[in-house]
Amino acid sequence: MPEGPSVKRFQLLTAPFVGQVVAKVGGSSRQRNLKDLKAMRLQDSQASGKNLFLAFGAALEAWTMGGSPSPGPVEEEPTIQGEADRGACSLTLSQEGQEDEVSQLSPKEHSVQRKQETECSVPDAADAAGGIWKWLRFHFGLFGSIRANEFSRANKANKRGDWKDPVPRLVLNFDSGGFLVFYNCRIHWCTSPAVEPASDILSPKFHRGQALAALRQPTSICYTLLDQRYFSGLGNIIKNEILYLARIHPLSQGSLLALSDLESLLDHAVQFSTDWLHKKLAGKGLHYQIYLKEKCPLGHEVMQGTFGPRDGFKRLSWWCPQCQPLQFVHRCWN
Ligand SMILES: [Zn+2]
Repeated sequence: MPEGPSVKRFQLLTAPFVGQVVAKVGGSSRQRNLKDLKAMRLQDSQASGKNLFLAFGAALEAWTMGGSPSPGPVEEEPTIQGEADRGACSLTLSQEGQEDEVSQLSPKEHSVQRKQETECSVPDAADAAGGIWKWLRFHFGLFGSIRANEFSRANKANKRGDWKDPVPRLVLNFDSGGFLVFYNCRIHWCTSPAVEPASDILSPKFHRGQALAALRQPTSICYTLLDQRYFSGLGNIIKNEILYLARIHPLSQGSLLALSDLESLLDHAVQFSTDWLHKKLAGKGLHYQIYLKEKCPLGHEVMQGTFGPRDGFKRLSWWCPQCQPLQFVHRCWN
């Protein structure tokens, strides 16, 4: 699924539409609730980790650049991440079956994953036209994306040999004449954007101390890195790449690693994610060092394994046993 840098880029694509009114709602979704977006104004756009949040409010509300025009729900009812998640309700935007959690993994990872996320009932969106902002949370599948003022075109034939363009799940046409197109995503109504900048690896407010404390837990380092409570936006690609760059075995116990190693891992997490975002904004691709590779850059054979917490997601890891030896002995802290 798109990781933090991709979702941040999606957010930047939506930002110019903030302040504009939705003139038409299209897409493959048959949810009536989304049709209610028509005539509403896009009030705000935020990215947090792997989630994009768009706020909609009544078009009649004044909208001013740089100010909060309405008593947004964040101020009215501060909501912690967990509460927001529980309050989120799913509007599954598809003819189903195509975009469960499994579809958010790389094809190679499919076989080891199971659907974990359950959906709750669709909320009454009638009050979406009231004076309070309503937030939509977008969670993207493996091929999830957003396009601004263009549609995605097929770049290869599908399994049946057809050159079929991807079907948009949601199309929002604005009064300016521009439009946003959303592909392969799940959409939830929620009461607040549930933004946690302290744990967002791309946020200037990312809290290194909190992240370091998480990494020092006596658990496999590759589990901690994917824990969105501490490393929001960090996904499997970033995990594999930064563990290689920091020369740390994915199953190393955080509590057994030297502080300098953990500091180095944090530096790589932030730097790699930032560089990736800049590459995306410049239209450049990413060259993997270890992810999906058979040999590391030094020519060593790469190992592959499926690791995860006993009761959590299992994800594929790639590592070089020579560049990333497993540490069994407690190394001195400095
Ligand atoms: Zn190597």
